[in-house]
Amino acid sequence: MTSRGPQEPKPYAFVPLPDRVERGKPAGHDSLHRGLLTGTIAGELVALTPVHVASGGIELTDNNRIPLVKAHFRTDGRAAIPGSSLKGAVRSIVEAITRSCVRVRSRTLRDRLAPEFEPCEARDRNAALCPACRLFGAPGYQGQVRFADAPLIQGQFTTILVPSLFAPRTHARVYYDRSGKVKGRKFYFHGQPARGNVPLEACGAGSRFRLQVDFANLTEAELGVLLTALGQGDPPFALKLGGAKPACLGSVEVKVHCVETRDIDGEVLGLEGSARKADPEGLLAAATALLIRTNLERLHGILRKDGQRLCPSQSY
Ligand SMILES: [Zn+2]
Repeated sequence: MTSRGPQEPKPYAFVPLPDRVERGKPAGHDSLHRGLLTGTIAGELVALTPVHVASGGIELTDNNRIPLVKAHFRTDGRAAIPGSSLKGAVRSIVEAITRSCVRVRSRTLRDRLAPEFEPCEARDRNAALCPACRLFGAPGYQGQVRFADAPLIQGQFTTILVPSLFAPRTHARVYYDRSGKVKGRKFYFHGQPARGNVPLEACGAGSRFRLQVDFANLTEAELGVLLTALGQGDPPFALKLGGAKPACLGSVEVKVHCVETRDIDGEVLGLEGSARKADPEGLLAAATALLIRTNLERLHGILRKDGQRLCPSQSY
């Protein structure tokens, strides 16, 4: 492993938790409501650095020096970014920029949070949910946004070598300092990928993937929050997906081609002719009703595209 010395800066920063959680009754997804927005966001994901989403398997290569690599996720035999990864990345951002609950599995971590930050649960039809749980779901509630797997449409697999400490692993979402005080939600910076000796099958920088996000019964503010979390606001920012995030893998820019909403005729979806293009600018403006401005600015500072920053190649 290459070493750049012991003083490498941390590859992440924190977005503070909100002052409170704002819960409301979700609109549901079983039937579609007039006056709410149902439709599809279509676009592309463009990899700014190599992307690796582990399939859990091992793949043979035709390279004698590196015969085996940790395999990338595929759908129908094609390289793809799983909808679940995309949803996870976008949900983390929505949680950080709205007054949403804190989903932590560890009991000891949960005990340090004020009770109102407890994860939402839809125990009955009248349960109130935070913005992130309305969009992406909570125990007992499916959520109103669905991410399709994003197949690779341009680019190909490549083998990359990442530092062993940054082999894919899961990270806690919320962190505490030594006194037990909450530091907030953790996000990794973008930068130049660090090199190491663990071979991964990855989609190279410049790869393009087809994006499709379906939504049902959203308010303009909720759809605006979703677009903001996809990096579409001003200034724009890139997402982080998949494994080896601390080593600067998985920087992905979202290009939205169109936001289409469908007119609801009673409880039934209209035919193709009744689809119409929504105005992303108007939706982004409507999002301010749900956004925490200072947290969004903090997130912009962390997730702004940065091709110069060096990512650490060792423990931090
Ligand atoms: Zn919640």
